[in-house]
Parts: sequence; structure tokens; C-alpha cells
Amino acid sequence: MSTIFKRLLDHFGPQGWWPAETPFEVMVGAILTQNTSWKNVERAIENLKNAGCLTPERITSCPLNELRELIKPAGFYNQKALYLKELSRFLLDHPLEELATLPTHELRRLLLSIKGIGKETADSILLYVFNRPVFVADRYSHRVFSRLGIWRGPYRYEEIRSLVEEEMKDPEELKEFHALVVELAKNYCRPQPRCDACPLKDLCSFNREGE
Ligand code: SF4
Repeated sequence: MSTIFKRLLDHFGPQGWWPAETPFEVMVGAILTQNTSWKNVERAIENLKNAGCLTPERITSCPLNELRELIKPAGFYNQKALYLKELSRFLLDHPLEELATLPTHELRRLLLSIKGIGKETADSILLYVFNRPVFVADRYSHRVFSRLGIWRGPYRYEEIRSLVEEEMKDPEELKEFHALVVELAKNYCRPQPRCDACPLKDLCSFNREGE
């Protein structure tokens, strides 16, 4: 894992994730990014910012129709508007400073109790907002790790997460590693992989099997 991490870091450089001005913006982005590209999320966040609607208070008081319009570029806007309202209400009841004192498993349990927050979204928030040592084991990581031969079998979120967390304990490294794996999956390890140009090609079993 550490060889892969170093190789990706050398190739792509530091990714500086998560791009956001406030912890709340990270949380909103983590919900909006479900089933859509980051470009679409950026447009929705820009709309929220321009409307002065990027705080839990403003989202709670914003009429649902208005909120749907603002986040429309991110898709699934009916659902996501409700999720943002759920998240905002939760944060008004549980201030960030209070949440930050909780142990990781307890905080994860609470986040998962919010409608619209699944494992991947909860772990993105744990890692990028609360700086906890968790790995966001998204579908990109499953594709990349499977091809590299470090994971065998179907997508199992918790097990892929544990595989990385057993080796990496530093939240800063985990942030960077997650971002780099996504970058690799988007640029080289696509559904149709571009193995010839991939920075990991000499480490990859998929590539060797194809020889
Ligand atoms: S060599 Fe090919 S299959 Fe392996 S990680 Fe790179 S792009 Fe993916």
C-alpha cells in the first residue's frame, strides 16, 4: 500500500482534498456528490453561496422549492434537498464542537443515523471534517485494488476500508491516498483502463495478466 501511495503521490502530486471553505461546505459537498460528478457539485455549491444559503441555519429556513432549484445542477435534487435539510437540523441540535469530542465509532453511528448519509458519505465527513483515521472505500478504490490484485471479490465497503486502515493510520495520508486513488481511477484505471501510461503498471496484476 505504501509503495502505491508513494508512486501515486510522485505522479499526481498532493491533491489537497477536500476543496471547501468551511466544514459545513465539506458536509454539503459530501451529500451533493452522491451519484454525480464534482463539476456538478461545484455549480450547486456556487448557487448556495451566491444565495447566502451555505449554513445550517439558512438551509433549515430556506423554502424547499428554493433549495431544490439552487442544488439542481447536482442532480437528484428532490432527494438531496431533503437530505441537506436533515443534515442541517442535525447540526443545529449537535454543534460541530460537541461532535468533535466524540469517539470515532460513536460519531460514525450518529452520522449514519441522518437520512441521506450512508457509509461513504459518513466516512468522507469523518475524514475530511473531523480528521479521523478512516478510509473512504468508494467504488473507485474497489476497481483499482481489484485490478492491482490487493483485493479479491465483490465490493464490500467495510472490508476494503479495514484493509487500508490496517496499514495507514495518519488522517492526512488517508485523505491524500483516497484523493490519489480517485485520480488514478479517473485518469488511467477507467472502466477501459489506459495501462500503458499508468504509473502503477509494473505493480499491477491486471496489466501482467493482459500481457
Ligand atoms: S496498470 Fe491498468 S489496471 Fe493496473 S492500475 Fe494501472 S490502469 Fe489500472
